[in-house]
Amino acid sequence: RAKKDGPGRVLVYEPYMHAEALDHLSLRGDLQRALREGEFRLQYQPLVRLADGVPAGVEALIRWHSPTRGLVSPVDFIPMAEEFGLIVEIGQWALETSARQVAAWRREFPDLGLNVNVSGHQLVHPRFADNVMRALAIAGLPSSAVTLELTESVLMSEPDLGKAALHTLRSLGVQLSIDDFGTGYSSLAYLRELPVDELKIDRAFIARAELTGEDLALVRTIVELAQILGLRTVAEGIENAAQLLALRGLGCGYGQGYHLCRPTDPEEVPSRLLTALVEHR
Ligand code: C2E
Ligand code: MG
Ligand code: MG
Ligand code: MG
Repeated sequence: RAKKDGPGRVLVYEPYMHAEALDHLSLRGDLQRALREGEFRLQYQPLVRLADGVPAGVEALIRWHSPTRGLVSPVDFIPMAEEFGLIVEIGQWALETSARQVAAWRREFPDLGLNVNVSGHQLVHPRFADNVMRALAIAGLPSSAVTLELTESVLMSEPDLGKAALHTLRSLGVQLSIDDFGTGYSSLAYLRELPVDELKIDRAFIARAELTGEDLALVRTIVELAQILGLRTVAEGIENAAQLLALRGLGCGYGQGYHLCRPTDPEEVPSRLLTALVEHR
């Protein structure tokens, strides 16, 4: 079938494009329904203080339990949600839900922090700072307990967009983290100027088994850079004891990874936090 697309232009759909376009359309509908019907869930992965193993906070990680598609990874549906203009609503849901959850857990674990991933589309939304503060107010979670994670590539793509919102949020006590640090191209000047509190060292640097040689040197450099700038460091993707030991030796402040704790359903989080606390007391 051919379709006119603007004056004088004829777009011919090949069969494969038709199938793709159809799936695209149904995915959009499915994501809208997911929001409406409550098909999203959050898992939580502890951020552990490496010096003594104490869980300092949790990162909220979204999952989509689709009745037709099964469990869909955020790696697959977040970019689509961004393209369809649905990410602001989904992101707001994740923020409100995780804030309420962590506010409840803080009755048992008073110092527990919350890390939430934020899309660039949320950051540039004119009411981003309002949206964040509203979610925290509804949940009864103090802003000082919250760290927003933005990826390095988002922050670098439009250095000025969102900067005002980030400064506003910072002045209201919310903390900011650069996720997947080391995979983008942050300039040192920009890092100094951004109101950032934390660098999350991308899993790619940690992943290669024993964390030696060049990887180790790069991670050491990032940790030193963070120390100079007065930022916390979190290592992502710690999968074995050797990596943990190496990172502790470098003075990396915090870590996350399957070796410490997998992303966990909310019902099981308090017992995981308690076990970790007892083990290290
Ligand atoms: P991210 O924020 O960098 O999250 C870390 C990812 O690494 C998570 O994947 C986590 O499950 C995984 N991970 C944790 N420990 C290990 C480990 O030891 N080894 C390995 N191989 N992986 C580990 P996940 O949950 O699939 O999330 C993928 C990405 O989706 C996140 O990367 C984040 O960019 C995005 N995302 C997740 N939830 C949200 C959300 O609520 N909003 C937005 N905008 N993005 C989200
Ligand atoms: Mg993250
Ligand atoms: Mg990350
Ligand atoms: Mg990552």
